Amino acid sequence: MTTILDTRAPAADRPRHPEKANRPDAPLLRKPDWLRVKAPGSAGYLETRNIVREHGLTTVCEEAGCPNIGECWQKRHATMMIMGDTCTRACAFCNVRTGLPLPLDANEPRRVGDAVAKLGLEHVVITSVDRDDLADGGAGHFAAVIQAIRAACPATTIEVLTPDFLRKDGALEQVVGARPDVFNHNLETVPSLYLTIRPGARYFHSLRLLQRVKELDRTMFTKSGIMLGLGEERNEVLQLMDDLRTAEVDFLTIGQYLQPSRKHAAVARFVPPDEFGSYARIASAKGFLLVSSSPLTRSSHHAGEDFAKLKAARQAVTASERATRS
Ligand code: SF4
Repeated sequence: MTTILDTRAPAADRPRHPEKANRPDAPLLRKPDWLRVKAPGSAGYLETRNIVREHGLTTVCEEAGCPNIGECWQKRHATMMIMGDTCTRACAFCNVRTGLPLPLDANEPRRVGDAVAKLGLEHVVITSVDRDDLADGGAGHFAAVIQAIRAACPATTIEVLTPDFLRKDGALEQVVGARPDVFNHNLETVPSLYLTIRPGARYFHSLRLLQRVKELDRTMFTKSGIMLGLGEERNEVLQLMDDLRTAEVDFLTIGQYLQPSRKHAAVARFVPPDEFGSYARIASAKGFLLVSSSPLTRSSHHAGEDFAKLKAARQAVTASERATRS
């Protein structure tokens, strides 16, 4: 995720990125016009913000400083970030606070369910910080949140964007067992950049996680996303697409990395919109049911509309397979 709209200033007594404080400064590149967005402030945005505050919720939209917050919150589409605002990893691209998180809040699932009902969401995205400190990585809490949303608003479809549950046996099975409609886990970048950009994670573990979801439930949609502009080579991106197709991932999102601060990984380059278009065409040809690829694409951006497109694409494939057999 990215920051160009940081609505969450760190408390003076609680620095946001203590693990990054001693890193040398990375230069901040001037953003091209295609990445500029309007500052948020519409009535819908303010209403969404009030509901989020009233229910004591954390959103990735704010924590990550997402550039799309004005557009999404105007439509009441906020992505809830459960299990606190503090992450046990320290990825070089991410603006979420790092440190030792607080214990889980047993009331959070109910509050999330209530907020989803109040926002009137047809489709909701639930994500979380990494909780390596918990025995199950927070899988049980994810399942409880899914159940609470089902109870509060049975018609709402649910998408989870999960951590990798590295070394948490049985965690993935618990989340899949709660039957979200879409299971998303972002690869974030190509394997050659993992040590510098996503040092606490393992590329092949993340890939295997996505593949395992399909083994557990073939009907569940799977989704993954990457950022461009971190220094990846084109061939590495194409290989990553093949890897995701081998894992039978349905939906790929590709967006531009934006640098949250001088202490975060530098932007290697701003990828022009037509290059995003080229990647979209290649990914579609490789067999993804759906591809979203543009500078401002984020994994939860337009998630509701994209879920409808995913279902339609699967129906079209099934119909064509039936026609070929008959
Ligand atoms: S793109 Fe996702 S993270 Fe960004 S504002 Fe929209 S819902 Fe929130």
